[in-house]
Amino acid sequence: MKTVLNDSRRQLLKNVALGTVLVPLSAISMHAAFGADTPLVTEEDPTAKALKYVADASKATGATPGSKCGNCSLFQGAAGSAQGPCLLFPGKAVKATGWCMSWTAKAT
Ligand code: SF4
Repeated sequence: MKTVLNDSRRQLLKNVALGTVLVPLSAISMHAAFGADTPLVTEEDPTAKALKYVADASKATGATPGSKCGNCSLFQGAAGSAQGPCLLFPGKAVKATGWCMSWTAKAT
């Protein structure tokens, strides 16, 4: 029984260590992969539709006033940039003025 618990604990620690390494690497690769030719997400994109993404947050239904991609914790663009990657749309860019229902305030 003790061996089973030790094996489970060992596996858990391996998974935590692996996650600690891979999550920052995915953020780095997302920055590296983003370029001027990265396509913008369209409002017709199936994921965008599911998340009610709009390129203009002022036209969003249900958005908290002032919320937009540019101040969302999932936005990976540089501060002040007009568009950038979002963790929910790999390989695509969202407008900094956009919004979707997964908006989460960026930590200040
Ligand atoms: S998760 Fe955040 S950055 Fe991504 S589309 Fe939604 S509001 Fe914009």
